[in-house]
Amino acid sequence: KKVIVFLGTRPEAIKLAPVIELLKADNNFETLVCSTGQHKEMLQQVLDFFKITADFSLEVMEPNQQLAGLTSKLLVKINDLLLAEKPDYIMVQGDTTTTMAASLAAFYNKVSVLHIEAGLRTFNKFSPFPEEINRVITTRLSDFHYPPTDQSERNLLDEGIPADKILVTGNTVIDALFLGLEKIENAIPQGILDLKLQDVKDYILITMHRRENHGSGIQNICEAVRRISEDAKIPVIFPVHLNPNVKDVVHEILGNNPMIHLIPPAAYPEFLWLLNNSKLILTDSGGVQEEAPSLGKPVLLLRDTTERPEAVEAGTVSKVGSDTELIYKEAMNLLTNQSAYDGMAMRSNPYGDGKASQRILDSMLKM
Ligand code: UDP
Repeated sequence: KKVIVFLGTRPEAIKLAPVIELLKADNNFETLVCSTGQHKEMLQQVLDFFKITADFSLEVMEPNQQLAGLTSKLLVKINDLLLAEKPDYIMVQGDTTTTMAASLAAFYNKVSVLHIEAGLRTFNKFSPFPEEINRVITTRLSDFHYPPTDQSERNLLDEGIPADKILVTGNTVIDALFLGLEKIENAIPQGILDLKLQDVKDYILITMHRRENHGSGIQNICEAVRRISEDAKIPVIFPVHLNPNVKDVVHEILGNNPMIHLIPPAAYPEFLWLLNNSKLILTDSGGVQEEAPSLGKPVLLLRDTTERPEAVEAGTVSKVGSDTELIYKEAMNLLTNQSAYDGMAMRSNPYGDGKASQRILDSMLKM
C-alpha cells in the first residue's frame, strides 16, 4: 500500500517522525513524505534529527500571506500531487492548515485519510484559531481516527464517528520524546554549549507562541516572569518565537537581565535537554504540556482554554492564562512549597507510554 505523510510545521514533524520511522521500515508500505514548508526552518531541523528526507517539498509560504491564500495554494498543490502519485492513504496529524487542506484534497480524490491526534476540542470556534475548526473539518474528512486519549475518543463518538473507525493510541509525541532523549543521552547538544547554558541550574523554562497571547497577554506574562525571577532568585531560559509580535515585546520587558536568558527558538534536541533539566515550565504550547509529565515537570499553562484537559485533571498542568497575579502566585507557591511542587511533578503521563506509533502501524496492517 502506498502512503503519503503530510507535514508542515515543527510539531507535526516531531509527532509524525516516529510513525514515519516504523512505516519506512515495514515492507508492506511504500511510504512517501511531503513537507508543505509551513514552518520551513524549524521543520527541517526536526527532519534532520530523525534522519527523514522529504520526498516532496511544496513551496507555499509567502510573506504576509492570508490564511485563505495559504489554504488555496495547499489545496491545489496537494491535489496535483495526489493525482500524480495515486496513494492508497494519506496520513495527517493534528490541526494545522496543512492537515485540513491535505484531508480536503484527499477527499476530492477519494483517497483514504488517516488522522493522528484526532478528537482534540476546545469547543470554542475561535480558540485556538484556526486550529479548532481545522480539527473539526479534518475529522469529517477522515476515514480512520487515532485519538491520543479516551477523552478525545469520546469527543469523536459524540460527533457520530463509528467506534470501529477509532483507535486510542496515546500521543506519538511521547514516542518522539523517548527516541529523542535516547539520541542525546551521551552528549549535551551543541546549541546548549554554544549558548553556555549547561551550568544554569533549576531554571524556569518558558515557551510562548499562540495568537491568543499576542498583545497584552504577552506583556502580562512577561511582567509575571520578571517578578518571579527577581523574588525567587531563579534563572529563566526562554526560547523566544521569531514572530515580531512575540519577540519585540519579550525583549523589551525581559531583555538585559542577567538572570533571564532570552535565546532563539531551540532546535528539538536542545529543547529536549532544556525540558529535562528545568525546574518548572511555563508554556502555551500543546506539545510541551504533553511532554512535561513524562519528565516529572510541573507546567503552568499560559492559556484560558485547553483542548488537553487530561493533564489538568491529572494535576500535572495548572491553567493560569495570562493573568500576572495568578501566574506569580502559582509559580511562587510551587517554588517555595515542596509538597505543592511534588504534587504536580508526577511521572504518570495521561498522554501515553511511548508506544503510540506501533499501535498505529499494527492497525494499518489490518486495513
Ligand atoms: N519545541 C522545540 N523548540 C522550542 C519549543 C518547542 O523543539 O523552542 C518542541 C517541543 O518539544 C514540542 C513541540 O516543539 O514537541 C511543540 O511545538 P509548538 O509549541 O511550536 O506547537 P504546539 O505543540 O503548541 O502546536
